[in-house]
Amino acid sequence: MATKDPYAVLGVDRKAAEAEIKKAYRRLARKFHPDVNAGDAAAKRKFQEIAAAYEVLKDPKRRKHFDLTGDTGGPHEPGAAHPPGAGPSGVGSPFGGAARGPSNFRWSGDFGDLFSDLFSGARAGNAPGFADDDDDAAAEITIPFRDAVLGGTIALQVRSPRRCPRCNGSGRTGGAACPACHGAGEIVSKERLSVRIPPGVATGSKVRVPGKGRSEKGDLYVALTVVPHPYFSREGDDILAEVPVTVSEAYLGAEIDVPTIHGPVRARIPSGTAGGQRFRLKGYGVRSGRAADGDHYYRVTIAMPALATDEGRDLAGKFAALYERDPRADLPRGL
Ligand SMILES: [Zn+2]
Repeated sequence: MATKDPYAVLGVDRKAAEAEIKKAYRRLARKFHPDVNAGDAAAKRKFQEIAAAYEVLKDPKRRKHFDLTGDTGGPHEPGAAHPPGAGPSGVGSPFGGAARGPSNFRWSGDFGDLFSDLFSGARAGNAPGFADDDDDAAAEITIPFRDAVLGGTIALQVRSPRRCPRCNGSGRTGGAACPACHGAGEIVSKERLSVRIPPGVATGSKVRVPGKGRSEKGDLYVALTVVPHPYFSREGDDILAEVPVTVSEAYLGAEIDVPTIHGPVRARIPSGTAGGQRFRLKGYGVRSGRAADGDHYYRVTIAMPALATDEGRDLAGKFAALYERDPRADLPRGL
């Protein structure tokens, strides 16, 4: 099947310079990156298309070959080398790899407050460099487990350079240095943003805040790190935890309160439950709305009474007589 025109995919002119192509690629790749469009199959396809188009156009030989023949495969690879959906190899992450934010400009990641040092390359005229031709910005933030699984709103303060409104960026008013920006032509705008965290995000997820990049044209991409919970752990959308029960609850069966991320759920422990047995509360895991609800799994542990009394020893002896067979009978004797 015919591969799409890479110029059309990236929305650039056939005579576009390399830098322009790179810029278009980075903007589109960020917008459609699977990390910020979790579960959106159309965005994923679009992302793959964008990456494939950039593969062709960033390589002068392949670009020239396409210009001459309309074939995206490159001079030595007849046919479509990158069928849609397969994902081209060797495409760098627009985020600079390893699912972190780009390191070419730096934000501190303190919870609730972000500081950006965006002055480098932000002036009109653009310093040369990879990040400087881009309107987007990146930030990292650490969020509590609760907000990651249930969703929430995180307040963060960003500082970003903006054109000085007093002198309109010229740095001068009435023949003198502008008093607002001291002649720099730009001011640091401090802004408190409320970033909505959708439910079900995980470490490495990114949230896009439109219009809050290095300029009004760009977006802010906030990479999330989730603080682990001391009790609940998580596997995808499933939540895992342990629940201790007494010997008699395990032996006789009981109804107990099982803590879940949605609050306690009354659940029945069947009689004869052994330590390590795992139970499921369907739908009580992460409810992201993007996929089926996760489940809550709890593993039963048997808690022992603290004190060994004469009566306890007597009962334990009677209890031991109840086993029909040696619980270790089926174990191997070694390697
Ligand atoms: Zn000014």
